[in-house]
Amino acid sequence: MKIGIFGGTFNPIHQGHLAIAEEVLKSVGLDWVLLIPAGRPPHKKERKVLPAKHRMEMARLAVQGHKKIEASDLEIARGGKSYTIETVKALERNYPKGTEFYLILGLDAFLEFPTWRSPKELTTRCHIVVVSRPGYRFSDLSRLDFPGRPDPERLNELDAGRRVRLDLPLAAVGHGLSAGNRLILIRVPAHDVSATQIRDHLSGGKRFKNLLPPLVESYIMNHSLYRRVKSSS
Ligand code: ATP
Repeated sequence: MKIGIFGGTFNPIHQGHLAIAEEVLKSVGLDWVLLIPAGRPPHKKERKVLPAKHRMEMARLAVQGHKKIEASDLEIARGGKSYTIETVKALERNYPKGTEFYLILGLDAFLEFPTWRSPKELTTRCHIVVVSRPGYRFSDLSRLDFPGRPDPERLNELDAGRRVRLDLPLAAVGHGLSAGNRLILIRVPAHDVSATQIRDHLSGGKRFKNLLPPLVESYIMNHSLYRRVKSSS
């Protein structure tokens, strides 16, 4: 069985997230994608992050009608900071032996991957799938100190659209990493949307179209989320 692990703050979940999950499902041939909102994201300023119960509810609403995508409260239920390595270990305990895990990341997130907790151990436990994101270039991966770092010319080909996918062994240069795991870089159609942009629109009372799943948009409106609040500082 092949399971995709798609973590994020999802503050809020948007159409870009869903499109990526669907594209990776198809392109990599996954059986299932678990969309896992972080309880406390280690990389984001907590003051700006909506309480977990709202982000979880929006994720549940967003996946309705997406047959092979499930919202999981694994990280929220665990409490504390949400380190992906702990999530992967928990999933390994919950799924049958032999299940293959695919960690799904946008290119912006993957460029930060070396600062995560236990990045090398993660690469021994999961395949890594990285999707393109407007404003970021695959060729920037050349500056990362990362095992199995791809050849710059092939990264340029991805950026230029002459190639849509690059599939490499993660253990190309050793480091005692699991020989079987892959790094899969995929150029997906551009989804020029971010949660920051959506929060800015909402707090400014601006209208926008098609950036949010309709049920999520209704949830936000019904609960008056992301309205501008007067700062006490
Ligand atoms: P924010 O603007 O608050 O930083 P975000 O839109 O980047 O939020 P996250 O919840 O932080 O959303 O992202 C979860 C994952 O989805 C990350 O791996 C991120 O790279 C990826 N991602 C989010 N939006 C896109 C997009 N438009 N294209 C490609 N990847 C994306």
